Amino acid sequence: MNQQTPQPVLKPADARGLVCPRCGCQHFRVVYTRRGWGARIIRRRECRHCGRRITTYERAA
Ligand SMILES: [Zn+2]
Repeated sequence: MNQQTPQPVLKPADARGLVCPRCGCQHFRVVYTRRGWGARIIRRRECRHCGRRITTYERAA
């Protein structure tokens, strides 16, 4: 009975399913990452196709 609890894999919730509202593509590059309130991580992303910028908020576990 010495099972190790597997570490939950941290998957960025925003990287998946994030769609550019303008051109509909899903390819973004991260302009910058910074810490927000508490454990929040703010990511500024830019669409590779049309250059639309999106700010996403992630919660660090
Ligand atoms: Zn776009």
